Amino acid sequence: MKTLLIITSFIVLGGYLISQVSKQSQKSKGKMGTKQEAKKTYEVQKSEDEWKKILTPEQYYVIRKKGTERAFTGEYSNNHEKGVYLCAACGQELFSSDHKFESGTGWPSFWEPVKKENVEAEEDNSLFMRRTEALCSRCGAHLGHVFDDGPKPTGLRYCINSVSLKFAKKKD
Ligand SMILES: [Zn+2]
Repeated sequence: MKTLLIITSFIVLGGYLISQVSKQSQKSKGKMGTKQEAKKTYEVQKSEDEWKKILTPEQYYVIRKKGTERAFTGEYSNNHEKGVYLCAACGQELFSSDHKFESGTGWPSFWEPVKKENVEAEEDNSLFMRRTEALCSRCGAHLGHVFDDGPKPTGLRYCINSVSLKFAKKKD
């Protein structure tokens, strides 16, 4: 039943996408996802105007609009210092340098979060791909995506935008 539904929606979406590709429509989000309507409540809640004041335009684009920074341009893709990575929007601890690895993708990559409950995973069917979105569980900040081609022990690859993170260097 579910498979049939997925296949059907793929056919429908495929047709839609082909018709839209030449027009370069940017407003695909609402039409592509079916689960977007349900607004979740997070511990940290702010209006879009408030977020705009707190975040830089680039942060706002990635964190609130689920954008992606360009590969190899982010501050932390090449960061090898010891410390923790906090949510740039609310400060929750998300990742540790202990779980960071070189993925070669140009985005900071981790095989697991500091605490599993701090990073939420949600299905993301935008851009004609089936991906898993990674979000801060405290404020709903878009962080990046989770893939299952990561290293041991988890086999996961949290592919995260530098701009969604704030690095706190470990004091020795
Ligand atoms: Zn957050």
